[in-house]
Parts: sequence; C-alpha cells; structure tokens
Amino acid sequence: MNQMYTPVIGLEIHVELATRSKMFCGCPADHFGKEPNIQTCPVCLGLPGALPVPNKKAIEWTILLGLALNCRINRSSKFDRKHYFYPDLPKGYQISQYDEPIASGGSLKLKIDEERTIGIERVHLEEDTGKLLHNTVNGEKVTLVDFNRSGVALVEIVTEPDIHSATEAKEFAQELQRIIRHLGISDCDMEKGSMRLEANISIAESGKRKEESELPAYKVEVKNLNSFRFLERAINYEIERQTALLKAGRKPRQETRGFVEKLNATRTQRYKETAADYRYFPEPDIPPLEFSNEFIDNIRAKLPQLPQDIAKQLENKYGIRSSYARLVAADKELTDYVLAVIDEAKKARMKTDSLVGLIINQKIDWHKVKPEQLVTEMMKTKAAQVSDDTTLEQWVKQAVADLPKVVADYKAGKKAAIGVLIGKVAALSNGSADASVVKKILEEKLSR
Ligand SMILES: [Zn+2]
Repeated sequence: MNQMYTPVIGLEIHVELATRSKMFCGCPADHFGKEPNIQTCPVCLGLPGALPVPNKKAIEWTILLGLALNCRINRSSKFDRKHYFYPDLPKGYQISQYDEPIASGGSLKLKIDEERTIGIERVHLEEDTGKLLHNTVNGEKVTLVDFNRSGVALVEIVTEPDIHSATEAKEFAQELQRIIRHLGISDCDMEKGSMRLEANISIAESGKRKEESELPAYKVEVKNLNSFRFLERAINYEIERQTALLKAGRKPRQETRGFVEKLNATRTQRYKETAADYRYFPEPDIPPLEFSNEFIDNIRAKLPQLPQDIAKQLENKYGIRSSYARLVAADKELTDYVLAVIDEAKKARMKTDSLVGLIINQKIDWHKVKPEQLVTEMMKTKAAQVSDDTTLEQWVKQAVADLPKVVADYKAGKKAAIGVLIGKVAALSNGSADASVVKKILEEKLSR
C-alpha cells in the first residue's frame, strides 16, 4: 500500500493591541524603542498588593476581532492565572484566559475566490511579558530585564489544525494581518514584535487513523517565527524532518522547537509541557466578564468592511482589475485614498482602472498628494500617457525583439543599454508610453 503523509498544522498567533495604556494598569503601552523600565508601575511589576483593572478598550477590540473572524462571542468570560517561572514574568504567573475565552468557533477564508476556510478555535486576551536583553556590561555577559512591555494587552488567535502546507500557513497569517490592520487595533509589525507566530506541526499517516479527522498522537511546536518567510521555512523543514522519522518507523517526539535562522532549521528547545503544568486557576482579583447582547451589537456596528470585501467591491463596482484591487485592499489607508481618487476621477470622466494602476505602478506618494490634485495633474500631464500594463508589454516585447544586440549588451552587464530600449518603446508608442513603467517592465523582463 502506498503510505500517505499529510501535514497537520495549527497556528498560534500573538498580536499586541495598540491601546494607549497597558492591559491591567495605566502605564503607556507603546514600549518600542523606549528607554528600559521607564513605563512601569506596581501592577505591571507584580509588586505585592497591586490590583489589576482590565482595559475596556482591549476587551472591545478583542470582541471586534472575534466578530471579524466569524467567531461566537461568549456572553460570559473570565481571566485566569497561568503559572510558570521565567525572569521576564515578575508575578510568577501571566494573566490569560483558559477555559472561557472571549471568542471561539470562528473561521477565515484564505482567498477571495476560494471556498476553503481555516477554523479559528479561539481568540483570547492576555498580558504580554517583559523582555530579556542579553548584553555585555563591564566585559561580563549579562541578561537584563526590561519591563516596559510587561502587561501590554496581547490577543492570541488559535486556529484549528486545518492547515496542510507551509504556503497555506503563510496565507492565513498574511490575511489575518490585513484584517487586524483594517480593524486598526494593532500595527502587526513583526519586526517590532507586535505580531508573533508559532506553528504546531505534525504528520498524519494514512491507514494508521481510524478516521480522516483523527489527529496524530504528537505535535511539535515551533517558536521564534518573526517573519512570514521563517514561518514557511520552519514548517517545510518540520514536514521533511517528521516525515523522514515516520518513514524510518520512528515517532517524532512531542516538543517545543525554535527556528534557527542561520541554519535554516529548527532545533529542540524543550520537551513540551501539558496545560496542567501551568496550574491555571481563575484570577481572583478580576470579576468574571459578562457581555450583554446590546454591548456586543454596538461593537458589531463598528465592524468595518474587510479586505476581501473591499477587493471585491473595487472589482465589481469600480471595474478595477483584480490584481490592483487586492493590492489596494490590503492597505486600509490606500483603500481610503483610492476610493477618494475614484470619486474625483468619476467627476472628471477618467478611467478608474488605469488611474489606480498609475498610483500603484508609479508609487505615487499618496500621503502627500491630495486625490483631486492627483486627478487634475493626471488630466494635464498623464492623460495622453499610456501606463496600461498589457499595452506597454506589447511595445516592450517588440523593442526586445527588434534589438537583440542591445539586449545581449544589457545582459552582459552594460546596464546603460536599457536607455536604448526605453527609447525604442518611446518611438513605438509615439511618445505616449510612460517611461518609468516601461523601465520597470524591461528590468523585470531582462532579469529573467
Ligand atoms: Zn503599569
């Protein structure tokens, strides 16, 4: 029998909320790049007698995210203490949510035109830990703790193990990032650590399961994934590693591994704890949360249009080609700008698709140029210019075919030769081709 190996992947994604103050105290939450330990107080330092007070905005935003992810919002919820020792955790426990998360049972569609969805197991709210800094002081290697981040509101999004490849995992994380940015509740900046990825990976062997839905008896958790690229690489590495073990008749160990960038591989960090090891119990200093229907409906009313809907609208209502529509919809500010430009363009009877193409291809500094200004400018100077990709590509093709020697020169390292080709396209188009776009297309074409 031909043995089949199916990757079973679930993601745990932490996102720092952009609230002004921390989760349980009044300290400023914006900790990035600040002098260490200046944004602390008895609550987030875990000093005796300090009482946590939940941040209402953080709770509302977690509900908003739950709604955006098609979750059920649980009418009653509570905070729990999760105990473990680590130097960046001053209380010896983290306030988190155990068995009554704010939201659960949701789903996210990976792509606009696909039916496939990834289940969301839960969305819960917790506090971030401090940060360890490994440093050298007076020639000695030391580890320092910065508590500015301690107590910052953190949501955790946990998917069902519905993901079956590294690409899908990446697509999920990217779509989630777009959604959260549209909600305006976090910048989801992975370099700053405001979005952090973890993947649980195991391999299901066909024929060894009673049912298709039965999960493997182990899972490997991979941490330290601070880019979509590393997420993809770590998952591919684990799929290969675990499949090789299974093929050799061995069972992969349940463990936590870290992705090591230099090795492009994962390495064992520790053998995994179970939930019981954390000695979860209800946080006695915070009363249970109760949400009325009215409270939740008010938050639902604030739910903005999400990227996939916006892209569809740009396509169907305004005739923007889908590649542009998706690019625009991925950025909330750009969406607002493009909608304003479309409004102006309609008044001026300009074609919206090519206008949006211009904004994208020419990298218009849309933070500075007002929509009406842009349209007026284009009416004057760009109206006669062609920047339509398909048309330009035909001219570029023609120029490349007509001038094989120039192309060879360029490929041999004579970069200036590109000017001759741009000139040729200009001639073919009677001067109407947009030179900067032509240059880009040429560079792309000739690099292949
Ligand atoms: Zn504080």
